[in-house]
Amino acid sequence: MNDKPFILETIVRENIKKLKPYISARDEFKEFERDMVFLDANENPFKTLWNRYPDPQQNKLKSQLAKIKNLNNNQILLGNGSDEVLDLIFRVFCDPNKDSALVLPPTYGMYEVLAETNAVEVIKVPLSKEFQPQVENILGAVKPNTKLLLLCSPNNPTANSFDFDLVEKLIKQFQGIVVIDEAYIDFSEEESWCSKLSNYRNLIVTQTLSKAYGLAGIRLGMCFASPNIVALLNRIKPPYNINSLTQSKALEALTESSNVKEQVAVLIRERETLSKGLIELDFIQKVYPSQANFLLVKVDDALARYKQLVDSGIVVRNRSREVGCENCLRITVGTPEENEMLLKTLKTLP
Ligand SMILES: *Cc1c(COP(=O)(O)O)cnc(C)c1O
Repeated sequence: MNDKPFILETIVRENIKKLKPYISARDEFKEFERDMVFLDANENPFKTLWNRYPDPQQNKLKSQLAKIKNLNNNQILLGNGSDEVLDLIFRVFCDPNKDSALVLPPTYGMYEVLAETNAVEVIKVPLSKEFQPQVENILGAVKPNTKLLLLCSPNNPTANSFDFDLVEKLIKQFQGIVVIDEAYIDFSEEESWCSKLSNYRNLIVTQTLSKAYGLAGIRLGMCFASPNIVALLNRIKPPYNINSLTQSKALEALTESSNVKEQVAVLIRERETLSKGLIELDFIQKVYPSQANFLLVKVDDALARYKQLVDSGIVVRNRSREVGCENCLRITVGTPEENEMLLKTLKTLP
């Protein structure tokens, strides 16, 4: 349990508490699997797979996820990618031009973009040299109007997971919402924070089908939290934010996940092979340990190496401008063939 009592109502925006959510035709009549005559939503009546609006609550998909994650449907909210989920979180809790959110650079750039889009002040507390959260500094930087603390574990672009004890301290001590972005959790040895949701009322965990599941194209982000938090997010989510094609494809992927497990196992093996190959090269100074499907690599001159790789037809990400990532490239683990090609190319660079 939290050290100090956490009272959700006190950190929700007043206008969100007051607003009357939009009620869609499909919210009013939920049993639309039943054989009824539907003249309620101004759809085209000629039957195809797609002529009806999708289930606004994605009940089938959520039930499958609930089974896999060992949660209840009312602890799950789905979004058009995690980016939409994160945006909903900002909009429920942060008053524009008044509230602030804490981020720990170097980290995922979207947190700052979403904060700025919502006119929310960004407070930055850099990670330590080992890329771990600096708990004292973070708690010291909290202002009375700091509503969100965004943690990314495993962290992009540093590839490491945050220490359990540090994260737990933050969840217990911070009086706002702690978001743990677990986009890369499937590649990690660490257990998901999902299993701790019932202990912490201020915890939100986000995951995605964009990385391990190989479904970046269908846009499905997942949010796991207390039923109270999920209910709040549900009040403002666009009614039909997950389209029918995405719902059916996601359900299929979550029903026969064997392929995903195999691919993840290959990628983890490839990550280690690639890491060993990279560190042998003269101009590579450091390959950081990774719990994700990418490697952060310190080189002699990141911009020059980036350009040389592009000229050879290989695109990586130059992360040099992030604090603590000077001269660092972020390299996604590819197929065994792609990784071999990368190493071969790097060996021939002048
Ligand atoms: C890739 C990534 C995501 C995924 O975002 P989607 O909108 O679900 O594709 C989320 N968080 C982090 C840190 C990422 O690197």
